Amino acid sequence: MKTILQTQKCFGCGACATACPKCFEMDENGKARLKNATLNPETNEQELETKETNCIQEAANACPAQCIKVVD
Ligand code: SF4
Repeated sequence: MKTILQTQKCFGCGACATACPKCFEMDENGKARLKNATLNPETNEQELETKETNCIQEAANACPAQCIKVVD
């Protein structure tokens, strides 16, 4: 299972960090950061392998820009 954060679409509302502070935080530019993620240089997206979705799915549901994807 992989979580992908499309940072280009993030407008910094903070909903993901509120829904799932274990996995999301806001960076110094006011954009979301997926903790411990790696940056895909081709897509400029943050990617993180996860064993369970825990609150990540809640964060994805809460994101108004729909820039958090959870994929198998
Ligand atoms: S909820 Fe979405 S738009 Fe809001 S800070 Fe998180 S990733 Fe960005």
